Amino acid sequence: MIGTCKLCLTANVDLQISHLIPAGAYKLIRSSDGSSPIVMKSTVTIKKDEQITDYVLCGGCEQRFNDNGERWVLDYCNQFGAGFRLNDLLDQAQPLEVVGDAAIYAGSAIPEIDMEKLAYFAASVMWRGSVHHWRSGKDAVRSPKLGAYEEDFRKYLMGHGPFPPNAFFGVDIVGDKNLWPSVFVPYGGRREDLVWHYVFPFLGIVFLFLLGRLVDPARFRYCAYRSPERLITRGSMKNDTFINDAGKLMIKSRVVRQLKKMEK
Ligand SMILES: [Zn+2]
Repeated sequence: MIGTCKLCLTANVDLQISHLIPAGAYKLIRSSDGSSPIVMKSTVTIKKDEQITDYVLCGGCEQRFNDNGERWVLDYCNQFGAGFRLNDLLDQAQPLEVVGDAAIYAGSAIPEIDMEKLAYFAASVMWRGSVHHWRSGKDAVRSPKLGAYEEDFRKYLMGHGPFPPNAFFGVDIVGDKNLWPSVFVPYGGRREDLVWHYVFPFLGIVFLFLLGRLVDPARFRYCAYRSPERLITRGSMKNDTFINDAGKLMIKSRVVRQLKKMEK
């Protein structure tokens, strides 16, 4: 299939079969006990082997996605029988604060955690969702729509721009092992406060994006990308909804009040 690559915008290139959710995630899910489909909210449930694919990217850009995020995240996410390295690293680390069942960690203090790759991977799936009309069989897949921010994401993913300026990024490690096998297509939309809010659970890791000019600027102090400590939470997502906002925990917590004082 010859066409224009949607990431690097090169025309007349050989387009590869691109995945909305990396093929490696399906491999991991297939190695599980079989009870954990890839799901998405309010539309169809995707079966284990039903991959969402289309001709979207050139070979070079597929490689770029793999090198800059996908491979690392697939190595460190929940691997079913083979452990969950990111969770193990937090087990060995000292949390900045524990609040009930949840805890906050400084990602920057754990050298093995590559925050850049976590951010790149999550941004790449968000962008993939937005830039193309994906289908699963006959069904349209409801995927994120980044609107005016789509180009900021593209430039960042190409290495031509910073992490999207109006994006708050959160990382939460799922506390409940029973939820580790889940993968969702990133879901969400515009909330009443006019902020775009997307949640992307991926094999034990929940990525959160808040987008828009109306994102509270104080929020960025706790962004997993922009905060000096590269803050990560564990167990912040509540099992009943699975969409709880990781930032709420941080705002309520003591450590954040201390950080605020330090800023003054
Ligand atoms: Zn390309």
